[in-house]
Amino acid sequence: MNNSFDLKSVIRPHILTLAPYSSARDEYTGRAGVFLDANENPYGSVTAEHYNRYPDPYQAEIKAKLGPIKNINTERIFLGNGSDEPIDLLIRATCTPEKDHVIILPPTYGMYEVSASIHNVQIDKVSLTADYHIDVEAVLKAITPDTKIIWVCTPNNPTGNVMQDDAIETLLNNFNGLVVVDEAYVDFTDAPSWIGRLDQFPNLVVLQTFSKAWGLAGLRGGMCFASAELIKILNKIKSPYNISLPAQKALLEGLEAEDKKNEMVKEILKERASLRTMLENLSLVNKVFPSDANFLLVHFDDAKSVMAFLIDEAIIVRDRSRVHLCEGCLRITVGTQEENEVLVESLKKYQQNIVIA
Ligand SMILES: *Cc1c(COP(=O)(O)O)cnc(C)c1O
Repeated sequence: MNNSFDLKSVIRPHILTLAPYSSARDEYTGRAGVFLDANENPYGSVTAEHYNRYPDPYQAEIKAKLGPIKNINTERIFLGNGSDEPIDLLIRATCTPEKDHVIILPPTYGMYEVSASIHNVQIDKVSLTADYHIDVEAVLKAITPDTKIIWVCTPNNPTGNVMQDDAIETLLNNFNGLVVVDEAYVDFTDAPSWIGRLDQFPNLVVLQTFSKAWGLAGLRGGMCFASAELIKILNKIKSPYNISLPAQKALLEGLEAEDKKNEMVKEILKERASLRTMLENLSLVNKVFPSDANFLLVHFDDAKSVMAFLIDEAIIVRDRSRVHLCEGCLRITVGTQEENEVLVESLKKYQQNIVIA
């Protein structure tokens, strides 16, 4: 339990006092009536589908469905235009450019660094250990009075593993800034979500996404779970209508079909296991790292030439071979059974070519 944490000390002073833009839909939230308040087109849209009305700025219907699924009060949910939006807003809410710092734990998701760099916020990197775990002592040492956020990704992209609970707990207990736990891949692991521990840690922020397990990457839907106070701040600084009407409609439809998501996850986990076996049987594969996500990090003797060969075969994987601690590795998303077989057949062909040459 972190008793000394005070959100007001983490939020930039001018954001605390900021009066947000008040949209027409903020000022009148009733449903029926003659709406002449938002300068919308009263006749409809140029398209067959009608989009002439502004969407709900706070996505109340989606949150009402999502709350019970995630077992959390709707006041503690923020929805964004992808997770990229809360990542950006959390930095904007807490970090003064050129002064404040964030800590990232490479190798990890690239957006934490990009987003901080866009805002000219200082980035302190504390490498994961050689076995991809958090070096807690080193992270604690890297904290300065100007450090506002520690970014933790679990299961981590691109390494695929879950970070130890006790390490994250130690950070939460010993840091008076935000610890953001990015759970983009939470559906692919048995490890419980940190959402269940938000009551215990006022400085904990959890990110999830509709882009992976839910299969809705094209919609751009990100979830952020935190204290009601922090959610209020994010709502204050977001753009007023941050999730479009068609996206809101599709997210609502998606939340009705959680079973379908669970079925797809089951299928992906089955394919993850069989892809692992097929890859481990190839002599050109040195190592397939353990994965709690929907991808495998795979070490090859000559990752760059494998990558080039696969591109020639029109198979695109992610080259992580120049990434710190992932040298020589490609990150391979688990595809359908057919796609995985095509990949493995190509790798066999590559192997054969090498033997012949
Ligand atoms: C894919 C991914 C996301 C998702 O980002 P969206 O903007 O929601 O699509 C977030 N975090 C990590 C670590 C990811 O790998």
